[in-house]
Amino acid sequence: MHLHHDYAKHLPDLVSATHGEEQPDPQLVVLNEELAVQLGLDTDWLRSAAGLNFLLGGDGGHAMAYSGFQFGSFNPQMGDGRAMLLGEVEMDGTLWDLHAKGTGLTPYSRLGADGRGTLSSMLREYLVSEAMHALGVPTTRSLAVISTGRPTQRGHVQPAGVLVRVAASHIRVGTFHYAAQSGHLQDLADYAIARHYPGADYREFFQGVMDRQIATVSSWMRLGFIHGVMNTDNTTISGETIDYGPCAFMEAYSPDTVFSSIDQQGRYGFGNQPAILGWNLARLAESLVPLFDTDINAGVNFAQETINGFQEKFATQRRSDMATALDTSTEVASAYLAAIQLSRPDITLAHRALADAARGHTLPAQELFTGTDFLDSYLATHPSPDAVDAAVPRVIPRNMAVEAALRAAEAGDMQPFTDLLHAVTHPWHPHPSYEQPDPNGLAGFLTYCGT
Ligand code: AMP
Ligand code: MG
Repeated sequence: MHLHHDYAKHLPDLVSATHGEEQPDPQLVVLNEELAVQLGLDTDWLRSAAGLNFLLGGDGGHAMAYSGFQFGSFNPQMGDGRAMLLGEVEMDGTLWDLHAKGTGLTPYSRLGADGRGTLSSMLREYLVSEAMHALGVPTTRSLAVISTGRPTQRGHVQPAGVLVRVAASHIRVGTFHYAAQSGHLQDLADYAIARHYPGADYREFFQGVMDRQIATVSSWMRLGFIHGVMNTDNTTISGETIDYGPCAFMEAYSPDTVFSSIDQQGRYGFGNQPAILGWNLARLAESLVPLFDTDINAGVNFAQETINGFQEKFATQRRSDMATALDTSTEVASAYLAAIQLSRPDITLAHRALADAARGHTLPAQELFTGTDFLDSYLATHPSPDAVDAAVPRVIPRNMAVEAALRAAEAGDMQPFTDLLHAVTHPWHPHPSYEQPDPNGLAGFLTYCGT
């Protein structure tokens, strides 16, 4: 394998060299063979002792520096406190980051932190990120999870694990805050442009990030995905969804749904996600102002005008995504978005019911949308059932199944995880045992992050 250290070479002041800690009993728990092959990695080698050592950061790598607005407050010193960039691999002229999480303390670790993660939280990220990829959402991918043989104390004692993920890059909005404060803004912007927006000027770069993030978050909204911790350090420049901590899929549509145990104000609740994305992009624009124009006022004006256009741009994208998924007009897509506010269905089941209705089997959809004339106006647009089938999934990672698979994995039984992973990575195929919401609802369901 030819490993690059491109980011560290170009931006040495934005990284710190680090090593993964030695692990008592590393065992490969899951390997994404298909992804490994796509990246040109030798799966036999990855399974070997030398391969595992590499994945655990034993050959060294770099912790990446960043800052971030966490729940609205600026934290200048963040960075990879338990993770490291192993390096990049090249595929068809594009670099892909290999990044390991849970590898031990780094120069950016907070006092008192352990640099580790639980096996269960790493498996959770593996499962949900691979599901998101299969659902067509821009996302980091997962290459492997390794159990380290260490116990970690998180409420109760749990096995620790390391996740190795793959991304177009790990450059975050928060990386720009850090670079702006440390005098490396232009270097980082030039690097990010060369890697993700070749040929763009700084203004086009910002607009490009906005467009890609709007597409990403709009697809979250279509699927009922709640990220849970949309801090600026968890918002990428590439547009990839990153950091699956307290994320969850909503069952029974409700804009104020929050699952994260640390989000008591509901800042990152389902319906707030578009506004928070706009807020995060405004923070990015602030960091980039000096690059927009040599005249500071002109730079601020550009940032302001572009941010002013965000809301309308997002709404347009959301309508158009919905219209494509349901194979209908944007007017009816708007009516759909209004109708689900009233009837609050499970949106995956609602989309399936609309595919059935397009096929002439209207009863389930009538039940879901009673009291509105949405269904009639929908059917009047003559949606193609095959087009809807091809666009809306049957299977999302539902919380009950995810929790059951993770509890079994923690106890050493990987079968439920393997079965669920297969279902969520083939989300258009029928998997009846994973298609229904929790009969008891998800009221009171909580997710935890940073574990
Ligand atoms: P996250 O919530 O995963 O986005 O992490 C937020 C910040 O906390 C990042 O700077 C992480 O590197 C850091 N962090 C989270 N958990 C740990 C841990 N167990 N040890 C050290 N740093 C951590
Ligand atoms: Mg993070």
